[in-house]
Amino acid sequence: MKNPVTTYGYAFAHNNTMNESTDTNPTSSGTRVVTRFAPSPTGFMHIGGVRTALFAYLYAKKMGGEFILRIEDTDKAREVEGSIEHIQESLRWIGIEWDYGPDKPGIHGSCLQSERLDLYKKYAQKLIDKGLAYPDPYTTDEVAQFREKAQEEKRPFLFREHRPETFDTWDGTKPLRFKVPEVKRYHWHDEVRGALEAGEEMLDDVILIKADGFPTYNFAHIVDDHEMGVTHVMRGEEFISSTPKFLSLYDALEIPYPKFVTMPPIMAADGKKKLGKRDGAKDILAYKNDGYLPETMLNFLALIGWNPGTEQELFSKEELIEAFTLEKIQRSGGAFNEEKLLWMNKEYLQKIDTSAYVAYAQAAFPESITGLPNFSEETLTKLVPTIQERVHVRSEITEAAETGEYSWAFTTPEVPKELLKWKKDDSAHDAVPRLHKVHELLSTADFSTPESIKAAVWDYAEEVGRGELLWPLRVALSGRERSPDPFTCAYIVGKDETLLRIRNASETLA
Ligand code: GLU
Repeated sequence: MKNPVTTYGYAFAHNNTMNESTDTNPTSSGTRVVTRFAPSPTGFMHIGGVRTALFAYLYAKKMGGEFILRIEDTDKAREVEGSIEHIQESLRWIGIEWDYGPDKPGIHGSCLQSERLDLYKKYAQKLIDKGLAYPDPYTTDEVAQFREKAQEEKRPFLFREHRPETFDTWDGTKPLRFKVPEVKRYHWHDEVRGALEAGEEMLDDVILIKADGFPTYNFAHIVDDHEMGVTHVMRGEEFISSTPKFLSLYDALEIPYPKFVTMPPIMAADGKKKLGKRDGAKDILAYKNDGYLPETMLNFLALIGWNPGTEQELFSKEELIEAFTLEKIQRSGGAFNEEKLLWMNKEYLQKIDTSAYVAYAQAAFPESITGLPNFSEETLTKLVPTIQERVHVRSEITEAAETGEYSWAFTTPEVPKELLKWKKDDSAHDAVPRLHKVHELLSTADFSTPESIKAAVWDYAEEVGRGELLWPLRVALSGRERSPDPFTCAYIVGKDETLLRIRNASETLA
């Protein structure tokens, strides 16, 4: 089956069929795969951006190629201070490493576009020499008037309709525009979307270099992708409609086209609309602050819009690199499923060792817990496995702590009489002799594990009836209707505290 041609500039349809383009192995044709992630430093590192970076990274690594992090800082007005560091921190956090980047210039020179201005001028000069670039003769106001007029007349604004008859020499004080040589319909191939086409209405005399000396995105990314040897341009679908513009520039510069690989959009969980802030689209580092593990985010993002073609859901970075192919990138949007994210985080949280989990839990505890008299790292270390088996994300620990779920571990609870009463006991006092006996047994018990504590009382519990003993014992220790089993509770609070709590309970009941 051939992919249907998809037309851009007009309505375009999504469908779920996998594309059938072949992953031509570029190593067999001698070219090394080079991909890049090219963010603008405008502040926010949303998950869509990280996902694009991740796919570009995975593909480069899979093919034994290079991955470049290029900062497109050519719009000084939109630049947000600190975002270059923020981008790097975000990518590093989930384990995306670049071969060349702002901190690692290497063979391509600087990976900051603001430090490559001479290069864009050199390419611009080529176009000027070919008669394909000219200084914009109008003032900003005049251009604004053309635009308004077009709007009033309900037609698209096209600068080429105002192209001057003769061109001045460009002295750098005016924007330099492209003289689009041919207004025609473009057809191209996208590795994910298949055959695409878009038309004349997208072609115009776009600005190449602005009056401030900085290039536009339209121009600079083509120059850089070429100079850096980028073989696969992987980016969001918002760039599809501009592709004819890019293609007309590739042609004018006599630069061969790279392969275009369009990322599927990230949709809200219902799959119906694009993910927005209200559906949980946050800055990637906000997920870090919330207690999502980097392994979770890497794995989770990799499965939005890509699938391995098997049932496997948990992947390490190495497994993702191994499994990744362009063929399995979907055309249609991939849903951001927060429940799956929680599930996955729990899976990864269960794999981390106790000392790491102690640090994780400690960061979640409010003052009301860390300020309790018996709060210590030792006790917390003993409590942690009971938390680790249940929690999906750090906020669940904070919420549970705030409702008092863990307080018993760090302070002697006040235990109400009613709660201590086992439902089959006729009087509250019934449990007292059992508690006395268990006190005696535990006073000589080995407290090194919950199992050793259990071994000390288990025969007696069998003899008097498990519920009859274990209920009052557990409640005496935790003061709660629900808590870990009594042996775990005893192990967590330690022998002295266990014996004290049993005595307290006997007094309450007596
Ligand atoms: N600087 C562009 C952006 O942040 C890059 C697009 C591209 O990957 O070509 O959207």
